[in-house]
Amino acid sequence: MTLRQRTLVEVPINWPLIGCIAFGVIDRGTNLIQVRPSSSCTLSCIFCSTDAGPSSRNRQAEYLVDLDHLIEWVKAVIKFKRSKSLEAHIDTVGDPLLYPKIVDLVHRLSELPRVKIISMQTHGYLLSYKLISDLEAAGLSRINLSIDSLNPRLAKKLAGTQHYDLSHVLNMAEAISNSKIDLLIAPVWVPGLNDQEIPRIVEYALKIKAGKYWPPLGIQKFVSHKYGRKPKGVKPITWFKFYKELRKLEDKFKVKLVLKPEDFGIVKDLKVPLSFKKGEKVRVQVVGLGWLRGEKLAVDLHQERIITLINASNIELGSIVHARILACKDNIYVAEPV
Ligand code: SF4
Repeated sequence: MTLRQRTLVEVPINWPLIGCIAFGVIDRGTNLIQVRPSSSCTLSCIFCSTDAGPSSRNRQAEYLVDLDHLIEWVKAVIKFKRSKSLEAHIDTVGDPLLYPKIVDLVHRLSELPRVKIISMQTHGYLLSYKLISDLEAAGLSRINLSIDSLNPRLAKKLAGTQHYDLSHVLNMAEAISNSKIDLLIAPVWVPGLNDQEIPRIVEYALKIKAGKYWPPLGIQKFVSHKYGRKPKGVKPITWFKFYKELRKLEDKFKVKLVLKPEDFGIVKDLKVPLSFKKGEKVRVQVVGLGWLRGEKLAVDLHQERIITLINASNIELGSIVHARILACKDNIYVAEPV
């Protein structure tokens, strides 16, 4: 495992919180709003799509967002929405349980009008009985808990972490199931590594009565990402084969495994308008370190969006430069200095 030093950036309250994939708020045009308060992770899963944790090779910075600042931006996104029922989904590029104010965050989200569901994704390693009970009291509706194997040795291998303790995570899964918080078990199926584990995990989820209000399982397909980790020798399967296998398991266990947004009450809704188009040239001020090596963060001069500048190693903080927008999907901006 390679340990590389990273800078922890406490996001200043004058940075916009729409625009960067690594922190803030993401709106993809539905009644679900993604909330990203921090970016760090304690594990180093060997299949991690965001290259998180101690063994990350590509990250140079981690981010921590002030709670009031984050809530202001969630409110700003809510203003664009028409749905009566919104879901705030805490799904960082690491593990949200590392956010020091995670319970307060859930509580503050629960106070927002129209936010009816608050959900969170985690590998659960940092859960405790007390934390589950605090999150329950704060109004957390569902935990999407990733358990990738029921074999302790394989679970450690997949987590890329010798101190990963499967029995603790299983105890926590059972505690969630016995609380008011719903439990969805979300293994990543990594072909060739945990194929035998997936049916066992399905059986386990049913046994501990996951899925009180929503489906009990959300099996995720391993997908190879440009900056993600890819275990040696693993070849991603096709979506066709993935769904075919899920349907076989559905027949065997009589449980829904091929999921659709409707299964979670997700519907289309108005989207926060884009501030910039692809190809547009924008004047920006460089304000901080970018998430990945070679990147910087910049803010447009109206302070509307935070923009990732690539190929920006040599650009000084504080400088004002022109940048060409290369990508703008879902208000996540990547640009290159010109
Ligand atoms: S998969 Fe999740 S828990 Fe594992 S290293 Fe990545 S972010 Fe962390």
